[in-house]
Amino acid sequence: MTDSSIDQLKLWDSEHVWHAFTQMANYEPLVIDSAIGCLLTDIQGNTYIDAVSSLWCNVHGHQHPVINAAIRKQLDQVAHVTSLGMSNPTTIQLAKRLVDISPDGLNHLFFSGDGSSSVEVAMKMAFQYWQQKGGPQPNKTKYIALGNAYHGDTLGSVSVGGVQRFHEMFKPLLFDVLRIDSPDTYRLPANLSQPQDATQYYLSQLESLLQQHHSTIAAMIIEPVVQGAAGMIMQPAGYLVGVRQLTKKYNVLLIADEVAVGFGRTGAMFACDHENIQPDLMCLAKGLTGGYITMAVTLATTEIWNAFLGDSAHTFYHGHTYGGNPLAAAAAIANLDIFESEQTMVNVHARTAQLANLLKPLMDHPHVGDIRQRGLIVAIELVSDKEQKTPFENLGATGTAVCKAALEQGVWLRPLRDTIVIMPPLSISKTEIIKIVASVEHALHQVLDINRT
Ligand SMILES: *Cc1c(COP(=O)(O)O)cnc(C)c1O
Repeated sequence: MTDSSIDQLKLWDSEHVWHAFTQMANYEPLVIDSAIGCLLTDIQGNTYIDAVSSLWCNVHGHQHPVINAAIRKQLDQVAHVTSLGMSNPTTIQLAKRLVDISPDGLNHLFFSGDGSSSVEVAMKMAFQYWQQKGGPQPNKTKYIALGNAYHGDTLGSVSVGGVQRFHEMFKPLLFDVLRIDSPDTYRLPANLSQPQDATQYYLSQLESLLQQHHSTIAAMIIEPVVQGAAGMIMQPAGYLVGVRQLTKKYNVLLIADEVAVGFGRTGAMFACDHENIQPDLMCLAKGLTGGYITMAVTLATTEIWNAFLGDSAHTFYHGHTYGGNPLAAAAAIANLDIFESEQTMVNVHARTAQLANLLKPLMDHPHVGDIRQRGLIVAIELVSDKEQKTPFENLGATGTAVCKAALEQGVWLRPLRDTIVIMPPLSISKTEIIKIVASVEHALHQVLDINRT
């Protein structure tokens, strides 16, 4: 590409493209022209390791030959078939595969286009279920959600969201939600020193809420095991299974939002598998097509499905034009095939251990407050005062500067404020992991040494 066409593209990018979660006043164009495996190449020919999986969705690397071939093959059959009253073989086969691998009891699934929509679907299904089940409980109309939750950007998913800087602005548009503390193991509740004690603390908070309000609550929604956009907040062991027991006990549906944690990311195929729980509804998106094409699903139990059978009044009046798109379904089937043919989870476990080992020395850095990890999700939280766990005053500036310095080293990262996230494709290699950690370490010293002088 010539210098002038590069400049032209960058100019058009800054002038016309309104980027997601980006302050356009100081956007610096980074234009990726191609990618293969875990390596991105920009229009100037620079390469970067994709250390956050193109925002948490890439699974087996870019341009995987099996996924590419599956999409091409489908393209020669049909690119799109509506899911409104009709079907196609590829989407049907994907549905069966997903039902087979997901937690027991989730035998039905509804296709949509993105994670936010899959959450909307789950919430509407939960609501309508109580209205029309045998022996209806029409007062069950509310939701419980966690502090700092992130479930997407449509207004329903924003209502259950709890990240102040994203959600505060829209408050007048949102419905009320019953909120409980984010089950955090870094900043423990007062008077607790051990993460294992936190489990009981957070669960008793949930139980008192349920005791008081269960007759009006339709569902509780949770990002199981790791709350992503909150800053990769990791839940204490036993919390998730406790949540499942309590929601069952008080007759409240449980929605597991596995949009970010599904498909091997945390070291199990689904985060719910870590504590062997069966939610009533489960949302999947980001990793579903291996990070290739937009697609999401909401899985539901037969108990819920049955409540929607009957006359037209029982129908679920909801749908997205491209839900169940066969090109996306072909990519999703190929994604699942590769988990088997490449034994992806073996690499996940090996790279998880390697990362943990390599990151240990970083804990000695005076501004590294916490390094937490579940599978191939790592969060390095930078703080101004390590003892007090005090955040930096200019929130986000340090995280941004560290990631910028890492980019100069050939590693692309995107922080959550001052938390550095390492979340590479599951196919990441041993040498790429070494390079990612070395770049982060270099970047930390570069940025924080300047700040200290
Ligand atoms: C990304 C995300 C969503 C939203 O998915 P989109 O495809 O971006 O709409 C919902 N829930 C969680 C937990 C997520 O991380």
